[in-house]
Amino acid sequence: MLKILIANRGEIALRVMRSCKEMGIKTVAVYSEVDRLSPHVLYADEAVCLGPAPSNQSYLLGDKIIEVCKKLNVDGVHPGYGFLSENANFAKKVIENGIKFIGPSPESIEIMGSKLMAKNAVKAFDTPLVPGTDQPISDIEEAKKISEKIGYPILIKASAGGGGKGMRIVTKSEEFEEQMERAQSEAKNAFGDDSCFIEKYVASPRHIEVQVLGDHHGNYVYVFERECSIQRRHQKVVEEAPSFVITPELRKKIGEAAINAAKSCKYFNAGTVEFILDENLNFYFLEMNTRLQVEHPISELISGLDLVKEQIKIARDEKISFSQEDLSINGHAIELRVYAEDPQNNFLPDIGTLIEYKKPEGLGIRVDDGFREGMEIPIYYDPMIAKLVVWGKDRTEAIERMKRAIDEYRIKGVKTTLPFGKFVLNHPNFISGDIDTHFVEKYYNSDLLNETINEEEIKVISEFITIKNKLLFEKNNTQKSISYIENSSSNWKKNRPQAV
Ligand code: ADP
Repeated sequence: MLKILIANRGEIALRVMRSCKEMGIKTVAVYSEVDRLSPHVLYADEAVCLGPAPSNQSYLLGDKIIEVCKKLNVDGVHPGYGFLSENANFAKKVIENGIKFIGPSPESIEIMGSKLMAKNAVKAFDTPLVPGTDQPISDIEEAKKISEKIGYPILIKASAGGGGKGMRIVTKSEEFEEQMERAQSEAKNAFGDDSCFIEKYVASPRHIEVQVLGDHHGNYVYVFERECSIQRRHQKVVEEAPSFVITPELRKKIGEAAINAAKSCKYFNAGTVEFILDENLNFYFLEMNTRLQVEHPISELISGLDLVKEQIKIARDEKISFSQEDLSINGHAIELRVYAEDPQNNFLPDIGTLIEYKKPEGLGIRVDDGFREGMEIPIYYDPMIAKLVVWGKDRTEAIERMKRAIDEYRIKGVKTTLPFGKFVLNHPNFISGDIDTHFVEKYYNSDLLNETINEEEIKVISEFITIKNKLLFEKNNTQKSISYIENSSSNWKKNRPQAV
């Protein structure tokens, strides 16, 4: 593989390119008009504009991306996460065009993309499932009977669900129809498929997921677990590895269950098997994510692996070069997702210009981001600014290091989840490891944050940055060359971005 196109943007595109560079592989960035000065575009060897900002006119244009690959002699596509990463049809087309898809087979993506198909696949491989149904609900009365038997509260979940959408809690039989209708309409709108099923609602669960790798030769390893219980809106904000509660015996059991889930769909490349863990440390399969996960860096920091390099090697048909016994956990890692969100206003996404942006530095700190000072956070995409990741020799050191890193991180111009992260890291229940997925509802109150913003300071720095960026842009434009595809509907060519 000599040239890889990264069908993504922001921090993950940059993260993939860095590994490619270390492997001597050339990179191609794709971008939307609004991202033309993004670090991932500037970092790549070549860069191609796909179209206007909305994803369906740029990053989701699979056919156009394949066309770019052919034009530029690309021999591998890395999809990152989100966008086309779990689109079986895209993976199929990439392969049909003689290009390597750096991910699993379209068949694996298809099976694990449907929670119901996934349940049926893993069931045959001895993976424990949350009590519930494994067929779509077709008869409400029958579903109510099953729910009574399981015992309320139960969850109605959309088979095609993702990002917490199409998921409804039902606490008693009388609510069933109403919640069912809501789940179905949400699922229909978001995924075009309204099939729903029932699952027991586990009262105080932890979200534990296992990183797995599989190659084309039938070899599998698990790269230990990540604890992702600190969530808002069923979505993760703070993750850590390893989990505080997993003993070596349980680690082996859950790791092997994850490998079985991977084997159930003949999985290869990197994937994540998600489980919920109840108060008695029983674990149940939730779903498998058939891509590199946002929070993969914490697994890298404790294992010493570069998961992107492993993905590329697997896509080149190489065997995994180590065995399960070769892997061990070194220290502790924590990730905080730094979102442009207002933790004092129900985590509502925020937009604006990063008028001040200074990353923390020093031993054990890794910041994966896709922004620079002066850039705007576009409204079109996920509002994540960065992943702040720390490593420590043990959990206590990792917590102290994360608190230092949060204090050093300077972001002005948008509200972020940094103060919320500080709140979590200081909380006695987090420190003692006594957490579940309800941490935010149980303990968090926005009054507990005290952030002060000086409006005058913002104005002055903002003007300074605008001038600085203008100068930088003009300088870059005279130095760099770039390949591109004709896009007559826009005048972006006048402002051609650089490619380093
Ligand atoms: P999605 O694909 O929409 O992210 P998941 O099935 O992965 O949905 O679940 C997301 C989160 O919802 C989990 O991390 C957990 O917090 C919660 N959850 C899911 N299933 C259950 C369950 N059966 N009982 C309790 N909480 C659950």
